[in-house]
Amino acid sequence: MHLPPPSGSPASSAIARWRGEFTCPATEAAFLCEQGARIALELSRSLTFCAAFYLAFALTDVAALGYSRHTMLLLLARLAVAAVALGGAMMTRRSLDPARTAYRAATCVASFGMATFLLVVDFRPDDLLLHGMSMAIMLVIVYLFIPNRLVSAIVVACAASSAFLALAMALGTLDSGRMLTMGMLLLLANLFGAAAARRDAHLLREQYWTQQILTNLSVRDALTGTFNRRHLNAGLLDGEIARARRHGLPLTLIMCDLDSFKIINDTHGHQAGDKLLQDFARLLLSMTREGIDTVVRYGGEEFLLILPETNLDQGKDLAERMRASFASARSICGDAHIATTASFGVVSAHLSPQLPLVASHALIAHADELMYAAKRAGRNQVRVTEWQAARAA
Ligand code: GH3
Ligand code: MG
Ligand code: MG
Repeated sequence: MHLPPPSGSPASSAIARWRGEFTCPATEAAFLCEQGARIALELSRSLTFCAAFYLAFALTDVAALGYSRHTMLLLLARLAVAAVALGGAMMTRRSLDPARTAYRAATCVASFGMATFLLVVDFRPDDLLLHGMSMAIMLVIVYLFIPNRLVSAIVVACAASSAFLALAMALGTLDSGRMLTMGMLLLLANLFGAAAARRDAHLLREQYWTQQILTNLSVRDALTGTFNRRHLNAGLLDGEIARARRHGLPLTLIMCDLDSFKIINDTHGHQAGDKLLQDFARLLLSMTREGIDTVVRYGGEEFLLILPETNLDQGKDLAERMRASFASARSICGDAHIATTASFGVVSAHLSPQLPLVASHALIAHADELMYAAKRAGRNQVRVTEWQAARAA
């Protein structure tokens, strides 16, 4: 289980002014992923509603044209729009990427619905003023009711408005004064709809970003930016164990603790100690895989690393590299160049559905024991054990 990245940088949260989407593709993708279920549900509701209404308007065709060949043709067109709408809603519900499928379905249904509406206009030229009103309402629906990308909604709405006005002029049933009024009405509907949809897109993304910040604040340690115990206790390791067991994959835990850290605090002050802690955490984060591995501040100067799909050799190698890098690093605080070392305990478990379940607290306790064994052996060391071998012993 992994949260989206902390993404504290303002660049990740920038929203394109006119497009109303995050400028950072990764943030936009995370937003769409998180919002996928809501967008799919909204699309299902709005398309079902629109399809039912679009079909119900067949009654007005009968009232205007009687039971003619044109009425039948329009009924078929209305049925086809309803079928495409329901098909789009179904595909979205089944899709692995519901938000993007929903947007494609929305564009497809809106374009098809507008095109068949032009057929209605062509077959019933005497009702052009009423059609103008319907068109304005349909534009608002395209912009605001059917969830879609703002750019797609603008393209569909503007193309449909232009085609409608061109057809109205070609039919020639309205004088120039009324044509102008209708043109203004459609312009207003487009401007109002696009502005409201843009505001909606911005608000949704701002809300999402605020939620991300709050979530990250609640699960991360303020000093080091690593995850906190609350996040670990919320089933983080249990989830990783269950996943590794299901897929028969190895899982490695590293417990590490700064050596003689109290002396650093006592000698250089707590600010220097804090800086060293931050530098150590940065090193751990930089040497692990973002979105796969997890670094948790387990205690004061003790960190727990959870490394999925990592076997004992890989875990040992990583801990050795971390130990060596940290031992040679210097933390600068004011005039002081501070150096210390760290001790590491590495435990790796090969999990599979056939083997008994491993308790997360037992795995952590074992990594802790190994880390203390490294301390007792003189510090600045790595101690490793395979979980199965350790339990058998
Ligand atoms: P060992 O090598 O056995 O681990 O010795 P140690 O001195 O590192 O361990 P000890 O448990 O004696 O001391 C840990 C110190 O870490 C004591 C505590 O004040 C300090 N500490 C814990 N959290 C923080 C923190 O957030 N900032 C600072 N500056 N110090 C902290
Ligand atoms: Mg220590
Ligand atoms: Mg400690």
